[in-house]
Amino acid sequence: MSRITVVYLGGFGRSGSTLVERTLGAARGWVNVGELVDLARSVARTDELCGCGRPFSACPVWTAVGELAFGGWTVDVLDRLTCLQRAAARQRHLPGLLGSRRAPSAALTDLRVAYARIYAAVAEVTGSEVVVDASKGPAFGQALAGAPGIDLRMLNVVRDPRAVAWSWNRRVERPHATTGTEQMWRIPAHRAAAQWSSLQLEMEAIARLGGARSARLRYEDFVLDPIGSLVTAAATLGVPLSRADLPSVEGGRIVLLPSHGLAGNPARFSSGALELRRDDGWTTQMSSRDRAVVAALTLPLLRTYGYPVTSGGAAPVSDRRTDMRSLT
Ligand SMILES: [Zn+2]
Repeated sequence: MSRITVVYLGGFGRSGSTLVERTLGAARGWVNVGELVDLARSVARTDELCGCGRPFSACPVWTAVGELAFGGWTVDVLDRLTCLQRAAARQRHLPGLLGSRRAPSAALTDLRVAYARIYAAVAEVTGSEVVVDASKGPAFGQALAGAPGIDLRMLNVVRDPRAVAWSWNRRVERPHATTGTEQMWRIPAHRAAAQWSSLQLEMEAIARLGGARSARLRYEDFVLDPIGSLVTAAATLGVPLSRADLPSVEGGRIVLLPSHGLAGNPARFSSGALELRRDDGWTTQMSSRDRAVVAALTLPLLRTYGYPVTSGGAAPVSDRRTDMRSLT
């Protein structure tokens, strides 16, 4: 099996990772798979819609990937993948994944082998060399960093936590279900802030101790200069990517074709010329109390990432050369 590069997008939800994932997946030789962590535990079980608009079971790409990797997505295969994820790649496993010098557990070894087969099958079926996985969970990514034949790089997509908390507090339709739409999870601002901090600290720990090459991409910088920011991020990750490989951006719009990404944000299903915007609604519509609470709960990292502490206006986009530094 030839070595396959996986660019794993880590961080908290509602940080713009779906758009980042799809833009990278549109690059020549790259493919995006959405949030692979949800394939076995939810997408395949409920036959959710793939990013191509077909139910998972009717998507030719995922059908071919399942056949190649496991002889098909049987219930036994899905149960086994789900069990392995629970046994070896939950958040509580992260300290062990980072600190242990012992041989990996049988569950972790089996998980790595299984996902290496999925990544390899995706690369073969789509004719790609780089697979972009937007699963986001730090522990899941760190667990897969040791998968055989896989060269995994960590890209931490981060966004101003007030914009993230504002997004988590809004009502968002989730169009993935084949039986109609449903609502995405909503969480209050203080909990979103606490989770943002927790996940970012985990990503910082992975960058320092995880062994995989890492970079950070601020969503605000991606929106301002999608192509330049991704080329810089890929260079930091050590993955070849030139401007000519990426889709064109004109007038703040990027042209994206449908992909076969799974789960994630409703932006998964939009295609054509998509407007790139920061969505700074939080600066005018979020209560000043919520803004202050989120800033207080995220304060040390807020400064580290170049976001203003006072929330009177939108976060300015700072010099990307300082923000896109390698975390390793
Ligand atoms: Zn599909």
